[in-house]
Amino acid sequence: MGIIIFIYGLVIGSFLNLCIYRIPNNESISYPPSHCTSCGNKIKWYDLIPVISYIILKGRCRFCNEKISVMYPLIEAFTGILFVSLYYKYGLSFYFFKYAVFVSTLIVIGMIDLKTTDVYFNTIVFGIITGIAFTLLKFHNNIILSNILGAAFSAGIIALIVILTKGMGWGDVEICFVSGLYLGFKLSIIMLFLSFVLGAIVGIVLIVLKIKSRKDFIPFGPFISIASIFTVFWGEKMINLYINKLML
Ligand SMILES: [Zn+2]
Repeated sequence: MGIIIFIYGLVIGSFLNLCIYRIPNNESISYPPSHCTSCGNKIKWYDLIPVISYIILKGRCRFCNEKISVMYPLIEAFTGILFVSLYYKYGLSFYFFKYAVFVSTLIVIGMIDLKTTDVYFNTIVFGIITGIAFTLLKFHNNIILSNILGAAFSAGIIALIVILTKGMGWGDVEICFVSGLYLGFKLSIIMLFLSFVLGAIVGIVLIVLKIKSRKDFIPFGPFISIASIFTVFWGEKMINLYINKLML
């Protein structure tokens, strides 16, 4: 079963690539079929096999020989690994489907933010609608309250930072709203904490390595995405560890 889930993840990853590329260009994600972004030639079905096609074609277009970004197979492989990890953690349960949709949304939002430093509203709307849907499917007062609190709290903290320091953007507020809605209140705190730690570490490394200067803008969305994915897998563990420490 694991291998089927992995292949399913690869295929979804391939679709996420298409979203990452087309949404910022205001192109439809359903039409036209996949084509080379350089020469426009339609890509043959046998060249659309996730990861494998990239290796067979040695990372180049069959027609114009233009290099294909290594991000494509990496996103496919990453999605496949995430899906199979979710499967081993949650089985084919409600939480598998919920978090599969969540991590897929985060990959698209995070990657688009990384590439364009913009957050696209339709991706946020998708996150909010699915987040509400999954909240209502597990209809339980505590869960509904926790998810609403998570969304309001995460978005609120970042909004405060935006207003006070202008160091982040309203796009970050929107991503945190989606993440809070999916994760609930307790896990949202972990997610925020990890985003800041991750952002600080990467920011310092980029400045020390002189890749970015202190004045450069570094999009924060990718950190929220990675932190949220991390929280899906290890958030509960981190909370338990912390509570155990308090007890000792
Ligand atoms: Zn081409």
